[in-house]
Amino acid sequence: MSSAEPNVVLLVELEIAEGSMARFLDLAAEHARITLAEEPGCLVFDVVQEDDSRVVLYEVYRDRAALEAHAARPQLARFKEQTADMVTGRRRRELRRAGRLAGKGRVLCTIPVLSERRHLLQPLVDAGFEVVFNETGRSFDAAGLIEAVPGAVATIASIEPYNARTLAAAKDLRIVARLGVGYDQVDVAACTEAGVAVAMAFGTNHEAVADHTLALIAALASRITDYDRRVRDGGWGSLYHGRLHGTTVGLIGFGRIGRAVAKRCQGFAMRVLVYDPYVEASAIEHLGCEPVAFEALLEDSDFVSVHAPAMPSTRHLVNEAAFERMKPSAFVVNTARGPLIDEAALARALEAGSIAGAGLDVFEVEPLPMDSPLRRMDNVVLSPHVAGLSDGAVAAMAEKCVDSILTYLAGRPLESGLILNPEVVA
Ligand code: NAD
Repeated sequence: MSSAEPNVVLLVELEIAEGSMARFLDLAAEHARITLAEEPGCLVFDVVQEDDSRVVLYEVYRDRAALEAHAARPQLARFKEQTADMVTGRRRRELRRAGRLAGKGRVLCTIPVLSERRHLLQPLVDAGFEVVFNETGRSFDAAGLIEAVPGAVATIASIEPYNARTLAAAKDLRIVARLGVGYDQVDVAACTEAGVAVAMAFGTNHEAVADHTLALIAALASRITDYDRRVRDGGWGSLYHGRLHGTTVGLIGFGRIGRAVAKRCQGFAMRVLVYDPYVEASAIEHLGCEPVAFEALLEDSDFVSVHAPAMPSTRHLVNEAAFERMKPSAFVVNTARGPLIDEAALARALEAGSIAGAGLDVFEVEPLPMDSPLRRMDNVVLSPHVAGLSDGAVAAMAEKCVDSILTYLAGRPLESGLILNPEVVA
């Protein structure tokens, strides 16, 4: 990709005919945008208006070969042709830069798992960006982000918080591309205020989360982790486990993930109840599921699975009163977000035997504190917020983030609905 040769800097000083400046600047900005988007060898293309009649084009190329490639581009010939009548004088200077520019800018990838799958972000490197990875093995907290983000023009974001405080350290940041579909840690209004676009990877990991949800449900029903421990400890024999076939699952939230879970449960001949106040009953029935009230779902389900987003209105949606309504033989599963379940009430319900067990991928505090009682309970199956991180989903999400960053920074429109704050783009 990059050679060891020094960068080449080109300064083109242009005299612009009277009355042509505005039109020239428009055409030059468009040319800069196309050049930066399409030429990996062009690291900087800046258009600087010196005064009413003079403009300097400041261009940095990775090396001489990149400059020559630019000179041969039809886009350059077209730009010269379009502006020929406006330019009355031209002076061209070439400099060799002592140091080397890192590229078009820095992209900070905060996702630990991607530091082992760097090839997924190669298109950014090929386009001239420097990519910096999170090598700590865990997601950044606010302090970690504040330390790592200065200088980054884009982040490929995990679950670290983006708010007024962290954004104050991110002066160069123009886009946060979330490797996922939840944005409860992103203060979208603060991003808008800071001029930072927030792009999501909608549609890339719901099947993975649904697979993981089924894995937790099946592990609980079949007591897989109990059997595993039993055999490893030298034991043998049945623990009299449950089943999926013919049981009832209750889905709280019927969006992309809820629907994908429903399909899988139907494949196991499970009855599927749904509570989602924002989805028409007919849409639920159309997919072979039963729309029910929240209380009915709790009372009738063998598995209660949560798939609503974390918002102030869904905080502790599943709380002490909810556990009291559930059957003592029922399990609760959460692959959505920790705050949807009152974790202290859950621990009490599990200890008291008012429900049978829980399968949890997400927690109120992550990583789950070492002293959490949930760590000690045998009727709980735990995973470390990885439901959406199957190999295929990570590749699809990374591709979407890379595409969003390249497209956005090139000034082109993104696929509809991916940007949460389109007013920044406008
Ligand atoms: P989605 O937006 O497609 O669906 C969410 C559904 O929840 C919507 O249908 C909405 O109407 C419903 N809803 C909102 N408020 C509700 C309420 N009070 N009660 C019941 N339903 C309500 O989102 P999705 O892609 O299905 O994802 C759901 C959640 O899963 C995300 O918000 C995210 O936090 C979480 N998630 C977790 C992981 C993981 O790795 N564990 C990965 C991806 C997504």
